[in-house]
Amino acid sequence: MTKPILQLWINGQRTASRSKRFADVSNPAKGETIRQVPLASREDVEAAIAMAKAAFPAWRDTTPLRRSRILNKFRELLETHRAELAQLASEEHGKTLEDATGSVQRGIEVVEFAIGAPHLLKGEHAENVGRGVDCHSMLQPIGVCAGITPFNFPAMVPMWMFPIAIACGNTFILKPSEKVPSCSLRMAELFKEAGLPDGVFNVVPGDKEAVDTLLMHPDVRSISFVGSTPIAKYIYETAAHHGKRVQALGGAKNHAVVLPDAELDFTADAIMGAAYGSAGERCMAISTVVAVGDVADKLVTKLKSRAEKLVVGPGNKKGVDMGPVISAQHRDKIVGYIDSGVQQGAKLVTDGRGIKVPGHDKGFFVGPTLFDNVSTEMTIYREEIFGPVLIVLRVASLDEAINIVNANQYANGTAIFTASGAAARRFQNEIEVGMVGINVPIPVPMAFFSFGGWKSSLFGDLHMHGMEGVYFYTRTKAVTTRWPEVEERSGSTLTMPTLG
Ligand code: NAD
Repeated sequence: MTKPILQLWINGQRTASRSKRFADVSNPAKGETIRQVPLASREDVEAAIAMAKAAFPAWRDTTPLRRSRILNKFRELLETHRAELAQLASEEHGKTLEDATGSVQRGIEVVEFAIGAPHLLKGEHAENVGRGVDCHSMLQPIGVCAGITPFNFPAMVPMWMFPIAIACGNTFILKPSEKVPSCSLRMAELFKEAGLPDGVFNVVPGDKEAVDTLLMHPDVRSISFVGSTPIAKYIYETAAHHGKRVQALGGAKNHAVVLPDAELDFTADAIMGAAYGSAGERCMAISTVVAVGDVADKLVTKLKSRAEKLVVGPGNKKGVDMGPVISAQHRDKIVGYIDSGVQQGAKLVTDGRGIKVPGHDKGFFVGPTLFDNVSTEMTIYREEIFGPVLIVLRVASLDEAINIVNANQYANGTAIFTASGAAARRFQNEIEVGMVGINVPIPVPMAFFSFGGWKSSLFGDLHMHGMEGVYFYTRTKAVTTRWPEVEERSGSTLTMPTLG
């Protein structure tokens, strides 16, 4: 049976792609193709860039207050359609409906932040920086901005980017993951309904051809990327080479350090959600526990009993804790990692391989998996698995735990579980990671703070949303002003002017 075919969104309307290439969009719980998406061609993306460029001057000159009112209407529509967006995210990604609803809500919170544009875009002013001289700064939009997003948050990660870029007066082209295109296309329709002028927001699902067109096109001024580390590095290098500003967020291996004084039931519950929520396909998932001192045996027992109780099934079924992973290929990769952990001598405590979900024989399921006695040389420690696999390393001291976290190439998020304020304070000070939780397992900052990691988890300087998002999507201009009285108009001087 032929499947429905999606379109691109260019200049405020659904637009047929000129590409002859299509990708299958699956329902991972059923293991079936549910629709097809065009992979935007270079010509398609160039058309989107031309429309975004044409729309820029009028949008730049629209007052921030008016932009903010359109964003406010968009927020209302997102709330009205929250369940629909969550359903699309769950259907194409596999995560549970409840989890998908939470992630849509976290995206809406970025829109709420962006509604503050009139206040956020205020510059600074200083009177009398020199005698009779004033100075003020302005934050101005940069032009056509582009965003490239991963499969694991179909609505939230795009919303880390485009609401702020657009609130700042830019126009935007979103290249969502070809695996989960529907949320982005639906959000574009809602934004138009909210009153956004045509051309300000465009969506071009695609693959490398679409991405490379954005990275190299002279009319694109900035690239925001979220995805895996090798692609983030490529995006950063290529876009920077073509003169663009770039923020490229990469992969992760997030550690939870558990000290012997931690409240263990609370800690085990927190780690469960952080490790296995969204089948481990979260960039802030806790994938590694570093158990300090004698806490390991007790903690592993609690983790095992909880992991084995998790209900695995389709994300739209009530009572299901964990859905499938994104694709058959990704499931096989995760199973390959579990095999390698066994071969390299880690202790497999709970084995998620070969799980059967009744009525979903073709679904891409991996059950919760727990390894103990993992060492830092093993592949399951060194590489990002991005699945429901939690590993436990045992160390003797907090010093050793901090050294392990700081030696890892990834540095997105981390957490410490302890009852000691002194240990927590030392941890937050010495740990070389972008986002830190203290008795908080997934420390995703709220929209009015900024989101981003360090080291191989972020290439570029500025994090997403919060004030760093505003700075990324604007250029600062400083204006120095003098209105001299006639008697002050003296002759020219060739020396370096000094004020004061
Ligand atoms: P991915 O890197 O495979 O894809 C991300 C985007 O890049 C997609 O839009 C994809 O179409 C595009 N892409 C893929 N290969 C490309 C290529 N060769 N050239 C140009 N573009 C290409 O990532 P994914 O599998 O969609 O997402 C999972 C990854 O994203 C994980 O590594 C996860 O940790 C990471 N992630 C990071 C964050 C963060 O905030 N740091 C958030 C979410 C996900």
